[in-house]
Amino acid sequence: MEISGRLVVGREMEVVEGTVEVEDGRIQEVRRESVDSDDVVVPALVNAHTHVGDTVAKETGRGLPLDEVVAPPDSHKHRMLRSTSREEKRRAMKHTVDLMEGVGIGAFGDFREEGVEGAKDLRAAAEDSPVDDVVFGSGPPEVLDVADGYGASGARDDDFHRERAAARECGKPFAIHAGERDSDDVDGAFSYDPDLMVHMVHARSQDLERLRETETPVVACPRCNLVIGVGKPPVKELVDATTVALGTDNVMLNAPSLWREMEFVSKHWNLDDSEVLRMATVNGAETLGLEDTGVIEEGARARLVVLSGDRSLKYVDDVVAGVVRRAGAGDVKDVVLL
Ligand SMILES: [Zn+2]
Repeated sequence: MEISGRLVVGREMEVVEGTVEVEDGRIQEVRRESVDSDDVVVPALVNAHTHVGDTVAKETGRGLPLDEVVAPPDSHKHRMLRSTSREEKRRAMKHTVDLMEGVGIGAFGDFREEGVEGAKDLRAAAEDSPVDDVVFGSGPPEVLDVADGYGASGARDDDFHRERAAARECGKPFAIHAGERDSDDVDGAFSYDPDLMVHMVHARSQDLERLRETETPVVACPRCNLVIGVGKPPVKELVDATTVALGTDNVMLNAPSLWREMEFVSKHWNLDDSEVLRMATVNGAETLGLEDTGVIEEGARARLVVLSGDRSLKYVDDVVAGVVRRAGAGDVKDVVLL
């Protein structure tokens, strides 16, 4: 298979005219040559933090304080999950996975509620999809038999030392929400020596220093933070300190579109556009432990999005700026997930 156009290549997100040659699911060659197509080819996006389980509750729970909307075990979200059948939840999760594929998301990392059964349900929902599902399970340590890692709801919700030890024992990552409402649970989260932290809206200077020292990656979810009303993460400072990926968080509160997340981040914090594209691709892949993913280079997995050069990106000279600040689902012409 050959895909031609303006290619956004390598970690540096360099724009080159040429052709990507794909064989056996891998990028065989990135050939620089003059081509007829003005399509733009970028790595498939990586949504590094979601809760697809709450697809059944879209646009409900808004306006409630954080704990009442999402905290286990008796928040709005958990009541909605309990009152929905497993079959319906699986169908809804599959719907969101397919939706993400259609808009160019090639992988997602999900904190799945509902313990072992919840993790099994997401596995089943994503089974036939070419989108990579990285499932962070919850509940008892046994969830790690099914899930790719453990996703702790937060240090103030419970004691997770048993689960942390179990994750270490089986060599799977331990991830945790931290600093979403305030900074009170950040020290607790660090005490687990997590492989990944989500949110860090209220990261203090000592927390940034600790992220830098421990090289702990962070997934920022700024649009969902806005919906819940917890404030905005210090994205620039986080980017200076560590690897930052982007997530859309709860499907019930926020559409799982990384195009919108990139646009918001780039316009609000005015970061370098290549940095924002890295956050939504290769940083997410590395954060979720996906190898050879999130970048267009020889040897990488062939996971690409082809954007039309004829819609939002027409008349855009700075291709990466156009992709980050202006492209959306309506520009997606093809999604290649091999
Ligand atoms: Zn979350």
